Amino acid sequence: MAVSDHVDFPTFMEGVKKRNPGQPEFVQAVQEVAQDIFDFIGDKEEYHEAQILRRIAEPDRVVSFRVCWEDDNHCIRVQRGWRVQNNNAIGPYKGGIRFHPSVTESVLKFLAFEQTFKNSLTGLPMGGGKGGANFNPRGKSDSEVMRFCQAFMTELYRHIGPDTDVPAGDIGVGAREIGYMFGQYKRITNRWEGVLTGKATEYGGSQMRPEATGYGAVYFMQNMLKHQGMDVEGHTAVISGSGNVATHAAEKIVQLGGKVLTLSDSGGFIHDPDGIDQERIDWVKQLKNVRRGRISEYADHFTNATFHEGKRPWDVPCDLALPCATQNELNEEEAKELVANGVKAVSEGANMPTTLEGVKVFHDAKIMYGPGKAANAGGVAVSGLEMSQNSERISWNHERLGEMLTELMEGIHGKCVEYGKQDGGYVDYVKGANIAGFKKVADAMLAFGVV
Ligand code: GLU
Repeated sequence: MAVSDHVDFPTFMEGVKKRNPGQPEFVQAVQEVAQDIFDFIGDKEEYHEAQILRRIAEPDRVVSFRVCWEDDNHCIRVQRGWRVQNNNAIGPYKGGIRFHPSVTESVLKFLAFEQTFKNSLTGLPMGGGKGGANFNPRGKSDSEVMRFCQAFMTELYRHIGPDTDVPAGDIGVGAREIGYMFGQYKRITNRWEGVLTGKATEYGGSQMRPEATGYGAVYFMQNMLKHQGMDVEGHTAVISGSGNVATHAAEKIVQLGGKVLTLSDSGGFIHDPDGIDQERIDWVKQLKNVRRGRISEYADHFTNATFHEGKRPWDVPCDLALPCATQNELNEEEAKELVANGVKAVSEGANMPTTLEGVKVFHDAKIMYGPGKAANAGGVAVSGLEMSQNSERISWNHERLGEMLTELMEGIHGKCVEYGKQDGGYVDYVKGANIAGFKKVADAMLAFGVV
C-alpha cells in the first residue's frame, strides 16, 4: 500500500529549504512553481503517490569540476565549473552555459529547474539542464577566452552528447565561446555531432537562433496584448540589458511600430527619449559584440540620450516592460513604480528577473505578466529546431524558421491561457506556464515508474 506525501505547501517548502541550505535562488524558483502545482495536484492522488514534485525539485545530478587555465601573464587560474542535469523525462537535458562571476550552484540549479518547465512548454522533446562557471569573460583577451573554453570542455565533454545533454549559450556565452567549445569537443571525441546549439551557421548552427529569444519575448508580449484586443504599435517600451536578448527584443519592438526608450548593463541604463531605432540598435550590437564596450558610451555618442549610473530603468514611464538582463533585477518597489506609471504588459526575456514580491504586485494590479519560462522560450525552441536540423543533416531557411518561431510562441501562449485563465478573463500566465510545463514532464515520469 503506497504512502502518499500529502504534506501542505509550507511543509513542502520547509523541506526544500532544509535540503538546499545557502541556495536562495533555487528555493525561490521552486517556490514560484510549487505554489501553483500544489493547487493543480490537490485531488490528483497519482502525482502525490509518485512524489513527482519532490523528484522534479531534486536534480538528476549536479556535476562540479575544476577548470584550470593559464592567463596571458602565464598565471595559472582556477575556476569552478558545473553542469546541472535536472530532468530528462521528455528528452535529452537541454539548456545553456553561463559564464559570469555571479554563477553559483544555486543559480545553476534554479536555471536548470526553470529550464525543465520552459522546455516542456515548447512542445519539443527536450529535458532541462544548465551549466556554467564563475568565470568573467569581460576584459579577457580572445586567447584567454579560448583557453578557458577549451579547459571547460575538456571536463564537460564526458557528461554531454547529442542524445544525452545538449548545452548552448547564456549570459557570457555567445557565438565566440560556443565556437571554441565545439572545436574542443570535436578535437577530443573526433566526432562532428550536434552536441551544442547556438553554433554559427557555417558549422551546423540554425538561422534565427541569435534573434529567437528576444523576438520570441516580443511575440509573447504581442500575443498577450492581442488576447486583450491591443497591439505593440504606438506603445513605448522599457528594456533592460543590452546583450543578445535585449537588442533583438528592441529590434522586434521597433519592427512592430513600438518605441524603445532604454537599454542597460551592470553599470547603469541609458534613456533615449527619441527612441532607440534600428540604426542605434545596430550601433549597440557593434558596441557590445565587437568592441565589447559599456552602454554608457551610448550617451556619449547619441547626445540626446542620458546615462543613469548604477540605476535600473524601471522608473521610466512606459506601456511595455521587457526585463532582458538577469535574475532578480526587478523588485517589489520597481514593480510598484511600473504599475503607478501605467505599464500595461511585462514580458520577461531573462530568467526569473522579477522577484516573488514583484510578481505579486503585477498580479494584484492585473497587469499582463509573461514569466520568463514562457516568454523567453523562443530561444531554446529554436535550439530544439537546431538539434533536429543537425540530426537530419539539413538546414531550414530564415523565413521558414521565423514562421516556426511565431507558431511556437503562439502555442506557448495558448497553453498558458488554457491553464491560467481566471474568472473575469484575466490570465495568470505564471500559473498557466507552471501547470502546462509540469503536466507533460510529470506524466512522462509516471509512465517510467520509480526510476
Ligand atoms: N540559455 C537559454 C535559455 O535560458 C537558451 C538555452 C538553449 O538554447 O539551450 O533558455
